Amino acid sequence: MNSPTLAQTLFLTAQDMASMVHELGLASTLAGLADAIEQDYGRWQDFDKCARVASHSTEGVIELMPIADAKTYAFKYVNGHPRNTRIGLPTVMAFGVLADVDTGVPDLLCELTLTTALRTAAMSAVAARALARPNSSSMALIGNGAQSEFQALAFQQLLGIREIRLFDTDRAATAKLMHNLQPTGLRLLPCASIAEAVRGVDIVTTVTADKTNATILTPELIEPGMHINGVGGDCPGKTELHPDVLRGAAVFVQYEPQTRIEGDLQHLPADFAVTEIWRVLRHEAPGRSHDAQVTLFDSVGFALEDYSALRFMRDAARRLGYGQWVSLIPELSNPKDLFSLIQPAAKPARPMRAAAQRHELAPA
Ligand code: NAD
Repeated sequence: MNSPTLAQTLFLTAQDMASMVHELGLASTLAGLADAIEQDYGRWQDFDKCARVASHSTEGVIELMPIADAKTYAFKYVNGHPRNTRIGLPTVMAFGVLADVDTGVPDLLCELTLTTALRTAAMSAVAARALARPNSSSMALIGNGAQSEFQALAFQQLLGIREIRLFDTDRAATAKLMHNLQPTGLRLLPCASIAEAVRGVDIVTTVTADKTNATILTPELIEPGMHINGVGGDCPGKTELHPDVLRGAAVFVQYEPQTRIEGDLQHLPADFAVTEIWRVLRHEAPGRSHDAQVTLFDSVGFALEDYSALRFMRDAARRLGYGQWVSLIPELSNPKDLFSLIQPAAKPARPMRAAAQRHELAPA
């Protein structure tokens, strides 16, 4: 990689990210992300936070997730379109930026689709390490789509889960997961129903995608001491848990103002008590109080995890030499003379060709 100029941005494509994760190893990537998330949640007060900005449509949602501390600004663009898989696109797709607060220069522009799956799984494992029973060894995984392998591996690597009971309404999704995770040593058991999958397990992860208020878990399925990792309910009108499942549990959230809008928590009154997970991670609030207590992490995905993931990936890319420097910002010999860029003598390169080709490829 050449040295960048003052205004250049490191660009990491989806392929760069996949190669980098391969070189780092999935286990150490998940462990590194979990460490980065714990460090950043440990300095919660340093961040300027807000609930993400969502633009809803009939089929899905597009969201912007900004956050900043005194040095670094980050944002993620992410969508959620559960019917996308029918036309060959993922349900969740994302990219993100890290920028320098002092100058506003974007330092990093990178893919975040793969990285979102990794950071979501790492966040789930960080929460479960603090909330699940310490000797947990089995998990039910309801929803076996794009996120699911990452959840399974994070719980294997970071909590020591050895057995995973699987259920998806789409049997092909479960077969895909079993194929992908066959070499991991996990004991994988496909189940015929949600009830069969959750019976007797220590942890239940729900990671389904449907733009509706689903009831993946109902109170009679919940056993004393279970930890519930609710991942798929993350949008107004898109939830997974019967409200009485929350009423019967100690509920933990990332950022309360956002989860009240987006999480399964949206079905409960505004005064229903929850604990932000940073307080547990900083030992300022109790997590699980006894072995028979049901704990529930109502995960919606918060911008701080993306900040952590972006900085982890940027540092790894710099160390390992991934990516390329691109000029999103014009290089100007006189920064007040932006007009010089379009003077005839400046002769810009031909940026239109790639754009035109992409237009030709787009479906009619
Ligand atoms: P995906 O479309 O690839 O997979 C979802 C799976 O859920 C599919 O295989 C589908 O058949 C299955 N499913 C749908 N309804 C079901 C039901 N009633 N019972 C069992 N299975 C059912 O989607 P994905 O990328 O794996 O994402 C899964 C969910 O996680 C989405 O809702 C997404 O928005 C959410 N998500 C949350 C976070 C977070 O931080 N909390 C991050 C990323 C994704």
